[in-house]
Amino acid sequence: MPGNRARVIVMNSALGPLDYRVPQGMAVEPGSIVVAPLGPRQLAGVVWEADRLPTEEVGDNRLRNLMGVADAPPIPEAVRRLVEWTSDYYLAPLAGVLRMALSSSAAFENAPTIVEYRATGQVPGRMTPQREQALERIGDRQGLVRELATIADVSDGVIRGLIKQGAIESVVIDTDSPYPRPEPGFAPPHLNPAQADVAGILRQAVGSESFQPFLLDGVTGSGKTEVYFEAIAAAIDAGRQSLVLLPEIALTEPFLTRFAKRFGCEPVAWHSGLRTSQRRRAWRAISRGEALVTVGARSALFLPYPNLGVIVVDEAHETSFKQESEVHYHARDVAVMRGKFQHCPVILASATPAIETRNQVELGRYEELKLPGRYGKAELPEIEAIDLIAEPPARGRWLSPRLVVAIDAALERKEQALLFLNRRGYAPLTLCRTCGHRFQCPNCTAWMVEHRLIRRLTCHHCGHTLPTPEICPECEAEDSLVACGPGVERIADEAKALWPNANIAIVTSDTLWSPAKAAEFVRRMEHGEIDIVVGTQLVTKGYHFPDLTVVGVVDADLGLDGGDLRAAERTFQQIMQVSGRAGRGEKPGTVFIQTHSPDAQVMQALVSGDAEAFYAAETEARRDAGAPPFGRYAAIIVSSEEKQAAEDVAQRIGRTAPRLDEMTVYGPAPAPLAMLRGRHRYRLLVHARRAFDVQDMIREWLGALEWSPKVRVIVDVDPYSF
Ligand code: ADP
Ligand code: ZN
Repeated sequence: MPGNRARVIVMNSALGPLDYRVPQGMAVEPGSIVVAPLGPRQLAGVVWEADRLPTEEVGDNRLRNLMGVADAPPIPEAVRRLVEWTSDYYLAPLAGVLRMALSSSAAFENAPTIVEYRATGQVPGRMTPQREQALERIGDRQGLVRELATIADVSDGVIRGLIKQGAIESVVIDTDSPYPRPEPGFAPPHLNPAQADVAGILRQAVGSESFQPFLLDGVTGSGKTEVYFEAIAAAIDAGRQSLVLLPEIALTEPFLTRFAKRFGCEPVAWHSGLRTSQRRRAWRAISRGEALVTVGARSALFLPYPNLGVIVVDEAHETSFKQESEVHYHARDVAVMRGKFQHCPVILASATPAIETRNQVELGRYEELKLPGRYGKAELPEIEAIDLIAEPPARGRWLSPRLVVAIDAALERKEQALLFLNRRGYAPLTLCRTCGHRFQCPNCTAWMVEHRLIRRLTCHHCGHTLPTPEICPECEAEDSLVACGPGVERIADEAKALWPNANIAIVTSDTLWSPAKAAEFVRRMEHGEIDIVVGTQLVTKGYHFPDLTVVGVVDADLGLDGGDLRAAERTFQQIMQVSGRAGRGEKPGTVFIQTHSPDAQVMQALVSGDAEAFYAAETEARRDAGAPPFGRYAAIIVSSEEKQAAEDVAQRIGRTAPRLDEMTVYGPAPAPLAMLRGRHRYRLLVHARRAFDVQDMIREWLGALEWSPKVRVIVDVDPYSF
């Protein structure tokens, strides 16, 4: 391709690559972020290697000029290869993956300063109640007008009024102000011999500047974090960047604090909760190679680090690494690919590695590094099963007597307890005793969940919400609505009734929605201001509370319901994880798992502490079923607001399915969530042999079909939810 042409992926998933003329005086190269005309509009895009994206040649005379190029380093080659691989493997449009990589335009809005607003603390003139309330909600926070309006839950106009009035003033933020540099020698740990061995291997891998995937396997509290910090220290020493991926934003705050204790300052955080100015500052520092350590959610994988030296995926078995919207991808697997393109080691850290990951170790593709036992004096907790049939809770209660006695004793000793139930809200289902009416979401195949603290029923899938009704909308009976089953709020109520003098905290995404809230929770736990925590999976990870000695799993069977092929594995991981919160200090811990099936293999393995037995049996079961990693699945989801339209397309896809020995196609059938956010969903499930190129087959199969824009077809490769 002659020098004055450029092939560009524009940010429109419906379009393939397009060619443009590069006007005189403009210099672009592969990776350059540009502005391109499309019809009457302007679109952002990225220049790509033309020979990697074959497309129809357009005559010179028909080319339009590129309109501008961003004042930012080009997207590095490793990211370009990663975007291609992700698009290929997950059958997602290049532009869709690229849009994710360019993270909501941080790459385009590229000025070195940004103007934010904050309260002046003075209130000149008269206040309307709305303005007063806005100021109160904003407090000492700052941000763009739009961001302040969101915080205060008012219109932009209210904020502008406050600015005019002088109650809010502007502040110029320098998005190029440098981040402090982490010091590898700030507070190095004294590693025990096993830790030192593993750290030595990791340091060497970082030094070799070559791709090497590791599974860092050790029980909770064995010092995995401490050890992978050594790999990061090695990267910092070599002037290279590090990336740590965490499964939840809520874990960022404790991680920042812990990192600062070891390295003298916080790393750069990257997640969806950042303000525009923070995002821009992080992006600029990362793309220039100045941000040495980044910690973030899965989207941090696609950032343009120019010289990444190591990637860590912490709690690598976590299902939240699987993204289920827009581009369906698994961050753990994409992290390994990024390491490959980047020529750097990748460390997957987990106390309960996924069967897929253990299989990679068996195949010799990943190297396993093991840390035996907990660090120091801490012992792994004792795990006891409570048979809910033999030792039932009192009527209308959910905690069995043995668990209650154990918590009594812990509180007596001034220790803390954790009750784990992976269900937000008060009750998962509300029904009318008189007519049997059940509250269902109008947009989804799901029940409305009662949230008593805010007195609303809410759909956890689409966010639809309404005030908790007092009379049945169906039969108009009064006082007839009953809450069925427990959520964390209900368990907290029970705990309040049992221990009226205890301080009880509920920890879910409803209560810990910001890093500041998470930090506050940690502080209160550490200062003993909380006696009992009632929480969802949010509380099972990362935290280290030495005085927490009793853990109660309220309903260990919860995750076993449903047709999920990983249900047993997930239950095992989740309960091991929550058990890992108990007895982390010098005081021993005990975990109680309440179950209706104490004989189930997963419960037995938990009680005996024999993880290997569990993994062996589970692996055999998967092998027999040809389930991952011994076989492959891909789900084809067809959805539309019009039921018939979705069904028709799904049927057509089903009829044209290739007949091959290597695979079987099931369906179409209504998807497990037959309606989601107002869209009717059908699903076809492809089950194939491991070595079969499912993607290629699906590309060809679906590529031959057309459907109306009313219908959306997405492919979920290696799906999680069945
Ligand atoms: P994991 O990541 O495997 O759960 P951590 O790295 O969080 O384990 O270690 C558990 C606890 O033990 C932490 O409080 C950590 O600071 C402490 N610890 C682990 N190794 C060491 C060490 N070598 N020196 C001092 N403290 C350590
Ligand atoms: Zn809904």
